[in-house]
Amino acid sequence: MSECIFCKIASKEIPANIVYEDDLVIAFHDIEPAAPTHVIVIPKEHIESLNNVLDIHKELLGHIHLCISKIAKKLEISKEGFRVVNNCGELGGQTVNHIHFHLLGGKQMNWPAG
Ligand code: AMP
Ligand code: ZN
Repeated sequence: MSECIFCKIASKEIPANIVYEDDLVIAFHDIEPAAPTHVIVIPKEHIESLNNVLDIHKELLGHIHLCISKIAKKLEISKEGFRVVNNCGELGGQTVNHIHFHLLGGKQMNWPAG
């Protein structure tokens, strides 16, 4: 059995506040939101990070972004605008080693980050 917390959410071993799900992807509210809307979008497949994606993941990565667009519309943050973040590896600030995309909205974002 996987020790990965996001795999456990994908398999419903641990609960999450799910906002979207299909065969390949699941999205849920972040437990420590950094914005009024903060959703984590993951593939159900365990891929560690953007450092570990392969050619076979091309369609999946495209699909995830299509899902993000749909979720942004569903949560009514698309018109005002939103931010999508992927943290990769140690310096990227990745704390959960299952690739995920943060969908953040509902407040003014600043740039450059950090
Ligand atoms: P990162 O720092 O990019 O790896 O992001 C991991 C994110 O997952 C953080 O924003 C955490 O708050 C969030 N997180 C960790 N555990 C859970 C959980 N059980 N349910 C929802 N979000 C979580
Ligand atoms: Zn995982």
